[in-house]
Amino acid sequence: MQRQGILFIVSAPSGAGKTTLCREVLDIFPGLRHSVSFTTRAPRNGEVHGRDYFFVSKDEFERMVRGGEFAEWAEVHGNCYGTALRTLAESREKGIDLILDIDCQGALQLKEKQVAGVNIFILPPSYSELRRRLEGRDSDKPDVIETRMNNAAAEISQARWYDYIIVNDQFPKAVEELRSIIIAEHQRTALMLAAVGNEFKL
Ligand code: ADP
Ligand code: 5GP
Repeated sequence: MQRQGILFIVSAPSGAGKTTLCREVLDIFPGLRHSVSFTTRAPRNGEVHGRDYFFVSKDEFERMVRGGEFAEWAEVHGNCYGTALRTLAESREKGIDLILDIDCQGALQLKEKQVAGVNIFILPPSYSELRRRLEGRDSDKPDVIETRMNNAAAEISQARWYDYIIVNDQFPKAVEELRSIIIAEHQRTALMLAAVGNEFKL
């Protein structure tokens, strides 16, 4: 019997290092994939359509919302982002584990719809370090950085209902913590029964 894929839902204030951390664990676990979201945001330098995001127009995004194509969607920092239902259906059917890099509003929508997932919140070590990272990333204009800093406190206040919190201070330690969570979640009894239940009559 094939087990369902696990959804690792990862949220963080922008600049905490979520993308960098997720890329690292995607390299470690070959069976783990990044859930590619749809967004109305313009691509940053180096971002590839279909790999980082599906970059769509506002009209196309609204058409998808009206068509009920999203499992969750939200407006974040002035742009729309959403996870397609068909991305999650594919994970369920093919047993593919996914990392969903989505904001707290989207994570909450999935929780309220009782979509099974492991909710992980990434914190920066401090607000001053968060600003340093946003500025150091050199990809957003100063007004965009201000919007993201202004939104950080509200996002961080949501950390309390997540299953796990990781403080991304020393990068290797944070990678190890995220890696450990992924390994532990694979050993859950409900999943292991599907893998070894027949053999041992469990
Ligand atoms: P997010 O996806 O959460 O917005 P990024 O992954 O783009 O954040 O990281 C923001 C910046 O911080 C990047 O320049 C990244 O290299 C840097 N960064 C990530 N983790 C750490 C860390 N533990 N220590 C120092 N800098 C980090
Ligand atoms: P960025 O513009 O930096 O790539 O992402 C901005 C924010 O949008 C991040 O907090 C990211 O997690 C969030 N985000 C990306 N994709 C989705 C999505 O599909 N749904 C929701 N709700 N948020 C998303």
